[in-house]
Amino acid sequence: MRLPLLDARTPALETCAFCPKLCRASCPVSNADGRETTSPWGKMTASYLLARGGVERTAEQAFPPFACTGCFACRDACDHRNDVAGTLLDARADLAREGLAPASATKVVERHRERTHASDRGLAAAVERARARGAKVVDGGRAEVQLVVGCLSARATPVTTDGKPENDVAADAIVAAAALANRPISVVSGCCGAPLRMAGDRAGFVAEGRAMAARVANAKQLVVADAGCAHAIARRYAEVAIELPAKLEVLHLVELAARHLDRLPALPEPEREAMRYHDACSLGRGLGVYEAPRAVLTRLLGRAPDEFARRREGATCAGGGGLVPLTYGETAGEIAEERRVQHRALGGGAIATTCGSSRKMLGSDGTRVVDVTTLLARALQSTHTPE
Ligand code: SF4
Ligand code: SF4
Repeated sequence: MRLPLLDARTPALETCAFCPKLCRASCPVSNADGRETTSPWGKMTASYLLARGGVERTAEQAFPPFACTGCFACRDACDHRNDVAGTLLDARADLAREGLAPASATKVVERHRERTHASDRGLAAAVERARARGAKVVDGGRAEVQLVVGCLSARATPVTTDGKPENDVAADAIVAAAALANRPISVVSGCCGAPLRMAGDRAGFVAEGRAMAARVANAKQLVVADAGCAHAIARRYAEVAIELPAKLEVLHLVELAARHLDRLPALPEPEREAMRYHDACSLGRGLGVYEAPRAVLTRLLGRAPDEFARRREGATCAGGGGLVPLTYGETAGEIAEERRVQHRALGGGAIATTCGSSRKMLGSDGTRVVDVTTLLARALQSTHTPE
């Protein structure tokens, strides 16, 4: 029996299946594991054969589509701009429906409700910490400017070092967004649903997306602090017919900050450490946002951030996307290490990024990784006294 994926994605699958692997060198997964099976060509050809019934559908044969970080590097290297990452998400959905998703992906679906509740508890606490730092937050989704923090940051446990909050990206995002909006904001609870889409639960993703759309019905501007969530809401929702409010503008927090450069103070001198900017795949190749984070960092640091040799459209992945850290953990770790090797070869220092997954992957060996959100909050608070 053919998989439903075949109908909608046949042109994309056939384009890859009959291609001489022209984007082979762009894929962080096959570069790390050295296998043809996990190259963009390999993953698309496996999906093509699975969809047509050309190979037996077993959990082992179904693995390749789950070995994609969704980094878009192959699409940008392809003359056809073929949508490999999106096609593989549909392949995951068809295979998951047949019970062929990896156990780690199935577990993501099973634990989603519990994880979302944990994020919401973390978010409620972050709102109180942000209020204590002077942020004006209105309850009940009534504000015109609303903020999605991102589950990874909402669930993180903040610590205090030398009287300063560390690892508190959730409260930092609320403080920064409220200061930049210059008016009370609402903080949006719940998950955008991206983990479900990556795990193959397309119906669950659609349900989460529609619930998110309903929660932000009063908003005119939806600011998103995590690059992965921003891409899911701004791009992936439309692919599965999730409709956001007609006039809603969705943008990443750094894009909002870049509109207010004249109001951004520089960080205090001792905090202007050596810092290299890592283009998160979802923000860079995913949403085409390259200038805003650089403009913001230049303002905050009083100089342009250091750069990777491979940057902007050519940036390499940190290995955190597409649930690959769960489905193919060792390879995800190797992808992150390759990015850190590039960083150390250029002199090291801290890495700045806009994505929770990149933060987690690149910082997993103790490398200092800072979210631009945190730098924004520190700079804006250095001129702001809580009431
Ligand atoms: S994404 Fe483009 S270059 Fe890569 S295998 Fe498919 S058709 Fe070929
Ligand atoms: S999106 Fe990235 S990880 Fe996925 S196949 Fe393309 S290059 Fe590889």
